[in-house]
Amino acid sequence: MSTELPDTLPALKEKIRGEVILPDSPGYDEARTIWNAMIDKRPAVIARCSGVADVVTAVNFAREAGMVTAVRGGGHNIAGHALCDDGLVIDLSRLKAVRVDSFARRAFVGPGATLADVDRETQAFGLATPLGINSTTGISGLTLGGGFGWLTTQYGMTVDNLVSARVVTADGRTLRANAEENSDLFWALRGGGGNFGIVTEFEFQLHPVGPDILAGLIVFPFTEAKTVLQKLRDFVTSSPPNLNVWTVLRKAPPLPFLPGEVHGREIIVLAIFYSGNPEEGKKLIAPLRTFGNPVGEHIGVQPYTTWQQAFDPLLTPGARNYWKSHNFSELPDEVFDVVLDYAGRLPSPHCEIFIGRLGGAAAHVPPDAMAYGNRDANFVMNVHGRWETPEEDAACIGWARDFFHASAKYATGGVYVNFMTNDGVDRISSAYGSNYTRLAQIKAKYDPSNFFSINQNITPARMP
Ligand SMILES: Cc1cc2nc3c(=O)[nH]c(=O)nc-3n(C[C@H](O)[C@H](O)[C@H](O)COP(=O)(O)OP(=O)(O)OC[C@H]3O[C@@H](n4cnc5c(N)ncnc54)[C@H](O)[C@@H]3O)c2cc1C
Repeated sequence: MSTELPDTLPALKEKIRGEVILPDSPGYDEARTIWNAMIDKRPAVIARCSGVADVVTAVNFAREAGMVTAVRGGGHNIAGHALCDDGLVIDLSRLKAVRVDSFARRAFVGPGATLADVDRETQAFGLATPLGINSTTGISGLTLGGGFGWLTTQYGMTVDNLVSARVVTADGRTLRANAEENSDLFWALRGGGGNFGIVTEFEFQLHPVGPDILAGLIVFPFTEAKTVLQKLRDFVTSSPPNLNVWTVLRKAPPLPFLPGEVHGREIIVLAIFYSGNPEEGKKLIAPLRTFGNPVGEHIGVQPYTTWQQAFDPLLTPGARNYWKSHNFSELPDEVFDVVLDYAGRLPSPHCEIFIGRLGGAAAHVPPDAMAYGNRDANFVMNVHGRWETPEEDAACIGWARDFFHASAKYATGGVYVNFMTNDGVDRISSAYGSNYTRLAQIKAKYDPSNFFSINQNITPARMP
């Protein structure tokens, strides 16, 4: 692939209705900034698209010029796959349209929409689809990798709710992918990441949710963490699918409902979400308080959209981040010992260990129904290495890596692609397990030259 600016660049500028941003353009640095401050890439050209025609133009330009090409949705990918050095970035961030058909319970979503954009429009009708827990995340990357959040135990993964997609392929065609049309592409898009083309519109199934739900936090001292983890593990096996509880271990931020002496000390937090009748929910969550001696609690009935943004202040852009992740079917006591060991020596006040609960509706889908196949993952542990300065890089990356290795033997071996850094090809094939072979064949059909390579890359299969 060439890194020089092609002489067809003036033609690109003429054809694009959006913006063509070059290294000497005003706004270049803002346009190459993404969520993870560890990523410092310098594209040669950024095509900020204003519609599907711009996407087609940009794909054709890059392919004909032989340029490395990255695709940017919400820019939250931890590995920095929204950007590339020297090549072309096809920036979809302005394509934020969200249209809801409340009668059919469907949302039609542009690829630059954030989760907040989707929730805002769907909640106007008291509807929602399962999305992640940080509202500034892009719908595109989240959906293409799988997508899970508070509603996942009840309504499945985001991809389980994808009904169809409009796609621009590497050869510049615009296709529709759903259960009837280009069904192999539709299978691959649901978890296969950005490998198969650029999605220009997602169609989601919606469900009645809220608009008010019961949610909040119960915080326990770190000394009680093991008991809390054990009791929660047993509690969730019999809890209804519309109750979801995640765990966070970190140093306490200065939250107003926590006593001052707890601030900055290690804590374990239960993050609780119940989408049913709040009075029923209050009864259901009462046992959680008895898991130990809480040092603080902040739970209440609130708009679903408020809870969807509750973690945003802890996950602001601009920090340095390095993540590692494991899937677990079961959580044996031994894994808790490892968790507590590493949670007891967090290298930065911003580092945290998240254990998200999947299962429920997400586990009812056969693993080969679509590219996302980790249906045995009842829990996803995400090691959020997060810190402020380059001087802390080595300690924080080292902590995340060591923890990851120490806990590996209890994990399924599968992994959620959306939480992966650049871990190499082996981990990508483990992420897809037995679905990888089919993905490689579909990649060979829709993108034989691996034009879409800046992602958790699936190598096109050799065709006979
Ligand atoms: C703070 C934070 C919280 C998170 N919480 C959750 C969570 O609760 N649940 C969860 O499931 N995930 C979560 N994630 C992970 C998230 O799903 C991924 O980071 C995802 O890649 C973000 O998508 P994006 O569009 O913002 O990213 P980008 O960086 O823009 O894109 C991600 C990848 O998708 C490709 N891509 C982007 N748009 C398109 C498109 N339209 N067509 C084809 N390819 C495209 C890109 O090339 C890149 O390879 C979280 C991430 C962060 C940073």
